[in-house]
Amino acid sequence: MTVLRMNQIRLRPGEGTELLGSRIARMLKEAPSEIVDVRIVKESIDARNKKDVRFVYTADFRVKNEKRILKKAEKLRLNVKPSPEDFYRPPRSGYEGTGNYEGLRPVVIGSGPCGMFAGLLLAEAGLKPLILEKGKKVEERSADVERFWKSGELDPRSNVQFGEGGAGTFSDGKLTTGINDPRIAKVNEEFVEAGASETIQYRHMPHIGTDVLRKVVRNIREKIESLGGSYLFGTEVTGLRTEKGRLTGLELEKGEILDCRHAVLAIGNSARDTFEMLYENGIEMTPKPFSAGVRIEHPQELINFSQYGETNDSEGRLSAAAYKLSCHCRETGRGVYTFCMCPGGYVIGAASEKEGEVTNGMSRFAREGENANSALLVSVSPEDCFRETGLEHPLAGMEFQRMLERAAFELGGGDYSAPVETVGHFLGRPDTEASVNPTYRPGVKWTEIRKCLPSFITDAMTEALPQLARKLRGFDLDGAVLTAVETRSSSPVRITRDEEMQSVSLKGLYPCGEGAGYAGGIMSSAVDGLKAAEEIIRDLSDGSSSDQVHDEEGLAARS
Ligand SMILES: Cc1cc2nc3c(=O)[nH]c(=O)nc-3n(C[C@H](O)[C@H](O)[C@H](O)COP(=O)(O)OP(=O)(O)OC[C@H]3O[C@@H](n4cnc5c(N)ncnc54)[C@H](O)[C@@H]3O)c2cc1C
Repeated sequence: MTVLRMNQIRLRPGEGTELLGSRIARMLKEAPSEIVDVRIVKESIDARNKKDVRFVYTADFRVKNEKRILKKAEKLRLNVKPSPEDFYRPPRSGYEGTGNYEGLRPVVIGSGPCGMFAGLLLAEAGLKPLILEKGKKVEERSADVERFWKSGELDPRSNVQFGEGGAGTFSDGKLTTGINDPRIAKVNEEFVEAGASETIQYRHMPHIGTDVLRKVVRNIREKIESLGGSYLFGTEVTGLRTEKGRLTGLELEKGEILDCRHAVLAIGNSARDTFEMLYENGIEMTPKPFSAGVRIEHPQELINFSQYGETNDSEGRLSAAAYKLSCHCRETGRGVYTFCMCPGGYVIGAASEKEGEVTNGMSRFAREGENANSALLVSVSPEDCFRETGLEHPLAGMEFQRMLERAAFELGGGDYSAPVETVGHFLGRPDTEASVNPTYRPGVKWTEIRKCLPSFITDAMTEALPQLARKLRGFDLDGAVLTAVETRSSSPVRITRDEEMQSVSLKGLYPCGEGAGYAGGIMSSAVDGLKAAEEIIRDLSDGSSSDQVHDEEGLAARS
């Protein structure tokens, strides 16, 4: 039996996915028994007609007579094709499952999505990776984060940015990405095996949810360990040892030196000390444009109504609605967009530095919170950062982020409370009352957020709010709440790497993921981590692999 793939299969919100087989059969004018083993490949929502919102599916299914069905589909003008076999096949090291690898262990610095997936692939290749993480295990880290949200007591080593699972652990766990890569299927499969819902494999806007993510992160760690990999928590890399342009070791904060010739540098976008250390060690990096702004919070009901209208959803299949908006502001010349939207979610304190206040968003798998939130961001160029900080330096962007975070900390009252303001108040209507209770913890302070943001950002926000409301009714609702400041949406630098993903300044160092400027989110960071691991596997393969690569000294790099 052959597998075929069909798209544009439409169901009403009240119709369950068990009807897909009979719907495909009806579209093909076949008996339902002809269509078997239906598997959803993709699910999206068509909400263009608010009176008739539909789920739209792409599905794989088996048929007995492929040729006959394909011919019929063509006649009926239906899009049916043999299902593509887009399997991910990583390179082989030759050590898989043997326990024989005795060379220097590859090291992964950072256990976020990038480091986790690099570590997993290296472990599957039998190369016994060692994962160094400056923060704590997810269980202990969760307690530190909860304490911060309750009391404002920040641990700069264990927080929303640092610790097992990286920055994405306390998030919505959205897996939406702009990249198209066969490795995405591998990442999804691993997440599902580790406890995520199977729906992430086909939903248009898949998400894991922060409650599930913590379990997923722990289970992936246990899998890596069962394959011969190991973790060192509370272990920060503070320096590099090099010889003739090649990495030979890593300095750890307690003074130890770890011999190392292959290190995946997966440090995330908040690793400011490490960026400085790399810069001082002559690792080439360039300033990169990024964005900064605030979180905006609306009643979720308003977003649902704007997206779904009065669609009858008696079965409750339509989840809390999401949006993604952008515009170009003519007067200020800035791009403004929403980012990391969390339906039914919470605005959270995401600080990692003392005396710096930062917001972000998260939601649980059920997305059952009363509010919707999203970052509202304005594009920031390296030139903006040079001007605002007075530093013409690759790390000026990092200093600019720090400046905004410190200003927000002061304005919030100096206890990690966030400055908040209603949209109406921000736009000059001082009597506006809030339509939502701000969810940010440990606390909020009602004030004028302009006082902690430069005018090029607030001017662009002022221009953008009504423009964005033309795309999503109610977006500029007077009572919506703005929470400052959102600064960590992407890295302010890019660490330059060559085609083999190694630093152009240091062989053996593989800068990757979000911090190095090559990814923007959980999925693209995980995929970048897999790619770096593939390069290392090629370099360390035992020679049985056809695409073995030799290092620059001409030695098979088994060190
Ligand atoms: C609250 C929040 C919500 C988010 N929501 C989403 C979402 O829903 N969907 C999405 O796609 N993205 C989301 N993101 C962004 C996403 O988390 C990041 O894109 C992603 O985690 C980047 O992965 P990474 O592995 O490159 O880096 P990170 O996840 O930042 O991990 C880097 C790790 O390296 C460690 N580290 C740093 N320096 C050192 C050192 N010198 N030595 C040892 N260890 C070190 C850090 O402690 C950290 O654990 C969110 C981010 C936050 C903060």
